[in-house]
Amino acid sequence: MRIGFGYDAHRLVAGRPLMIGGVEIPFDKGLAGHSDADVLLHAIADALLGAAALGDIGVHFPDTDPRWAGMAGADLLGRVADKLAEAGYRARNVDATVVLERPRLRPYASRMRAVIAERLSVEEGAVSVKATTHEGMGPMGREEGAAAYAVCVIVSTDIRTDQDGRSAA
Ligand code: MG
Repeated sequence: MRIGFGYDAHRLVAGRPLMIGGVEIPFDKGLAGHSDADVLLHAIADALLGAAALGDIGVHFPDTDPRWAGMAGADLLGRVADKLAEAGYRARNVDATVVLERPRLRPYASRMRAVIAERLSVEEGAVSVKATTHEGMGPMGREEGAAAYAVCVIVSTDIRTDQDGRSAA
């Protein structure tokens, strides 16, 4: 069993859809980025890669590569799950918090959990999505952007691998 942590932040700008947790949320601004800038799914993807010591999404999906322009966060998360599987791991659970002043995300949390669970091939009960405002403080509080934090546990899919990830074979 291994633990991972991920963090991401994106600026809020006019003229972009607001994609968070694979769900398009009605709002007058969206998150800016080379991909769809899904801050929550990026944080979760980085937590998963981190747990497996596989680098980060900047390594696997560089924003200089036109292949990843506009890529959906759900697509990215699925690709990360595939990389984990290739390395002999699968996600066991994920817990994440999105920091966004407006709009309120709670009404969309169950749909986000369903997207994440589907991409990681886990039960929805293994996925937690929480949301908080920043109480008007700092850049998030001024509605300049959104941030997300995620932790996860991954487990080996290879019974010959010990707890430290070393192959016993
Ligand atoms: Mg990002």
